[in-house]
Amino acid sequence: MSSINHHLTDALLMSYASGTLDEGFSIVVATHVSLCDECRARMESFEAVGGSLVDEVDAVEMGEDSLEATMALIDAAPEFDIAPKVSGKVLPQPLFDYIGGDLDDVHWKPVGGGVRQSVLNVDGGSQVRLLSIPGGAAMPDHGHNGLELTLVLQGAFKDDDDRFARGDIEIADEDLHHTPIAEAGQDCICLAATDAPLRFKGLLPRIAQRFVGI
Ligand code: ZN
Ligand code: ZN
Repeated sequence: MSSINHHLTDALLMSYASGTLDEGFSIVVATHVSLCDECRARMESFEAVGGSLVDEVDAVEMGEDSLEATMALIDAAPEFDIAPKVSGKVLPQPLFDYIGGDLDDVHWKPVGGGVRQSVLNVDGGSQVRLLSIPGGAAMPDHGHNGLELTLVLQGAFKDDDDRFARGDIEIADEDLHHTPIAEAGQDCICLAATDAPLRFKGLLPRIAQRFVGI
């Protein structure tokens, strides 16, 4: 039985399955799916639908060129190994492959308050980073100018009444203003992707933002 309580939306799974989600968000989606049987099953059903759509389009004689162009687009999408794997690693397989190692191989940079981050190099408009937040510490209070996906890999955080632990994903957008707080104990390690800068309420986080680039 999986203990994951917070999942991906159909829209995110579909855009991943169709190869149209950009690389930063794709890493987060693939990493969640590798940990989550429920989302993997939904993803597979979307992939099946996508495959039959391509067949149908083929049948009504989509011009040879445009079909080729569509398939090239799908082929160009980053591919991750989303098969479930049991291992002692903290980083699930898609992320392990991307970084080329486990947590010990991550190049952390301190960003203040004991928080550390490691920005991953990705193409496209989104930014993705690993965050390590000391147990009991709060993230700066912030809003969002776009979409933010936060996947927990170790430890847990609370956001109002919701608790997010390994495998759980929090999806935030323009409507959500929040202050996630890491649970006491183990450092909370998260993988977070955003497609627009966060909106910080306090002056200090806003100044820090210019240096940290969140
Ligand atoms: Zn899920
Ligand atoms: Zn947020």
